[in-house]
Amino acid sequence: MENKQFKGHVIVLPYPSQGHINPLLQFAKRLASKGVKATLATTRYTVGSICAPRIGVEAISDGFDEGGFSQAGNVEFYLKSFREQGSRTLSRLINKFKHTATPVTCVVYDSFLPWALDVAKQQGIYGASFFTNSASVCSIFSRIHHGRLSLPLTPETTPLMLPGLPPLNFRDLPTFLRFPDSYPAYLAMKLSQFSNLNQADWVFDNTFEDLEGKEAKGVSELWQAKMIGPMVPSAYLDERIKGDRGYGSSLWKPLSEECMEWLETKASQSVVYISFGSMVSLTEEEMEEIAGGLKESDLHYLWIVRESEQKKLPGWFLDLNKDKGMVVTWCNQLEMLSHPAVGCFVTHCGWNSTLEGLSLGVPMIGVPKWADQLTDAKFVEEVWEIGVRAKEDGGGVVRKKELIKCFKEVMEGERSKEIKRNANKWKELAKKAISEGGGSDECINDFVQHLIDIVKPIN
Ligand code: UDP
Repeated sequence: MENKQFKGHVIVLPYPSQGHINPLLQFAKRLASKGVKATLATTRYTVGSICAPRIGVEAISDGFDEGGFSQAGNVEFYLKSFREQGSRTLSRLINKFKHTATPVTCVVYDSFLPWALDVAKQQGIYGASFFTNSASVCSIFSRIHHGRLSLPLTPETTPLMLPGLPPLNFRDLPTFLRFPDSYPAYLAMKLSQFSNLNQADWVFDNTFEDLEGKEAKGVSELWQAKMIGPMVPSAYLDERIKGDRGYGSSLWKPLSEECMEWLETKASQSVVYISFGSMVSLTEEEMEEIAGGLKESDLHYLWIVRESEQKKLPGWFLDLNKDKGMVVTWCNQLEMLSHPAVGCFVTHCGWNSTLEGLSLGVPMIGVPKWADQLTDAKFVEEVWEIGVRAKEDGGGVVRKKELIKCFKEVMEGERSKEIKRNANKWKELAKKAISEGGGSDECINDFVQHLIDIVKPIN
C-alpha cells in the first residue's frame, strides 16, 4: 500500500519531555491521517512511552539511554550530549530508510533542536521547524535573537510594547528574560531556535489564526510560521481521526479510570481540576496554601501531584474527607477536562495545558511558575478572557485567600458567566481551525501537497 500511494515520509522529532512529545506526536498523527508516512523518533529513554497506532516509532539517542535528562543531571551537559548523539543517531535513522520504498522526505524537528535541520540538510532532505510555544512568546524571543530587543528587561523598561502584542508588564514576561542568569542554558536554547531558521523549508507553530494571527503578523518580518494548531487529539475537536482520544504518550502511569469513576459521582461543573504539568515543582509552602484554599472553599477537587512531589503535601490534607477530593500522581488530562463535572482548571499555563483548557472550553485559574507560563497566563486573563491569573504575594506565593477569591470569580457570579461565554467561543474557534477547511487544516494540507510534489518525480 505504501508503495502505491507514497505521499512522502516524515520523521517527527520532539524534545523528549511530555509537553513537547504531545504536540509533535499529535502532528505526526495528523500527517498520517492524511496519508503521509509518519515516524516519531524519540530518545531510547522515552521511546517506550509512545503508543500510537498508524505511526512508526524509532529510537535515537541523547547519550543517556537509561535515565534521560535526570541521568545527565545538568541542562548544559544534557543539551550538548543530545546535540552530538542525536545528530549521529538521527542521521543513522534517515540512512536506514534510504534504499527502501519509503525514504525519508522531511524531518519535522522540535525548534529546541536546531541541529536536526543541519542533519536533514547534510542528508539532502527537507527540514521543518515546529515551535511548541505561543506565537507571542516566539515573537519576543525572535526579537532578542535578531537584536531588536535587548536584555536585561527590567521593571523600569516595561511595559514592553511590541507590534501585535498587548503591553507586557514585567510580571508577564518569560522568567528566562526577567532573570536571564537564572537558567542561562535554557535561555541560550530558546534563542538558538532562530539560529538557522532561515534555512528551514517550513516553520510551524502550535497555535491558530483566530487565536494569535495578529501577534504572528506583528513579527512576520523576523519569524514566519504556519499556524497548524491546536495540536489536541481529534476526538475533542474535529473527530476526523478515529479513536484519537489521547496523545499516545505518557511518561507516567495514568490513573484515569479511578478519576473518571470519582468524577461520575459529582455534579456538573462542581469540581476544580488542578495540575502543574510535567515539570513545575512547588514548595511545601505553596502546596500548603493550595491545600488550605481547597479546604476552605469547600469545593470538590482533583489534584494531580506527581509521585516526586507527593512528600510535600501537608499531612492534614491527606486525612481530609475522601469524598471531597482526590489526589493522584498522573492522569489523561484531556479526559478529565472534558468531563462535565469539571468546572475550573487551576493550571500552571504550560502552552499545551493552556491550549487544552481553551479547546475544551474550561474556565481557567492561571498560577504560572516559570518559563513562558507567565506570558500565557496574561493572555488567558486579559486577551482571551477565559480565566483569571492568581496574584502572588511579595514572596511569589499565591496565598489561599487569593485562590478562594479566584474560585469565586471563575465558578460563581457575573464574571464567571462572561468567562464561560468566552470559553465556549474559543472552544468553537479552536474546533473550526483544525476542522476541514479551517486555517490550520489548510496549512497542514499545503504541507502535505508539497510533500506529494516532492516525491512525484521518484514515483
Ligand atoms: N498532562 C497529562 N496528565 C497529567 C498532567 C498533564 O497528560 O496528569 C499532560 C497535559 O495534557 C499536557 C502536558 O502533560 O499535554 C503538559 O504540557 P504543558 O505544556 O502544559 O506543561 P509542561 O509539562 O511542559 O510544563
